[in-house]
Amino acid sequence: TLKGKTALITGSTSGIGLAYAKALAGEGANIIINGFGDKDAIEKERLALEATSGAKAHYSGHDLTKADQIEAMMAEAAKAFGGVDILINNAGMQHVAPVEAFPVDKWDLIIALNLTAAFHTTRLAVPYMKQQKWGRIIQTASAHSKAASPFKSAYVTAKHGLAGFTKTVALEVATFGVTANCISPGYVWTPLVENQIPDTMKARGMTREQVISDVLLAGQPTKEFVTAEQVAAIALFLCSDAASQITGANLSVDGGWTAQ
Ligand code: NAD
Repeated sequence: TLKGKTALITGSTSGIGLAYAKALAGEGANIIINGFGDKDAIEKERLALEATSGAKAHYSGHDLTKADQIEAMMAEAAKAFGGVDILINNAGMQHVAPVEAFPVDKWDLIIALNLTAAFHTTRLAVPYMKQQKWGRIIQTASAHSKAASPFKSAYVTAKHGLAGFTKTVALEVATFGVTANCISPGYVWTPLVENQIPDTMKARGMTREQVISDVLLAGQPTKEFVTAEQVAAIALFLCSDAASQITGANLSVDGGWTAQ
């Protein structure tokens, strides 16, 4: 059980992040969800999390591409709960374009959200975790933290960076009961994947069906999408005592993609 612990999950109004929030609420943790979306839908999710956990659920709408907003979010978390015991850096975005046509503003945004935001949340969360002598830092990295695909230069760069950052932090906090690990999914069926289909159709001159079978699932030997619930189950395990010696690892859940 995670009763009495507080979990902050970035980018948790949808997809994998929301699955983490539900899984951790199932163990009784206080939850801070973050991300964008429809106000009423988010409030409904927040209430559902409280009903599941029997604990508190807060919503933070801060924009994690901005350092000052991350600082505000972490300050609010500290005020409400004392600090964050479980930090899941999950917010992420994608843009698909050849490097010579890659929009500079998209590059900057992707590096800010998929990489730099994790630095800011981590640097602000670690002092409390060290003081508690317990903490879990979990990143949603990607198979793209281990291997590349064309037309995803910013994303692949950010995810490789996130993997290196995580190993470094793991070494720094190793003697404090704090672990830091990456979970690296292959393709999970979420809005992020759905939304990149049109651009990939354009970049490669393919139909929607061709993109799904020849691009998305081409490298995934099982020929099945990973589910968000399967990713969340790994995070739950990483929060357990059984996983206290797993740190600095990058755990694949990718249907065999990176075995190739
Ligand atoms: P998603 O688009 O469903 O969710 C992204 C979340 O991030 C949403 O809650 C969104 O509101 C939030 N977000 C976006 N911009 C933000 C900002 N500036 N500040 C704060 N929050 C912001 O995506 P997903 O597929 O669930 O992806 C979650 C993570 O998993 C990402 O890091 C992604 O790179 C990674 N991932 C996804 C897949 C996949 O196939 N879906 C595979 C590997 C890794």
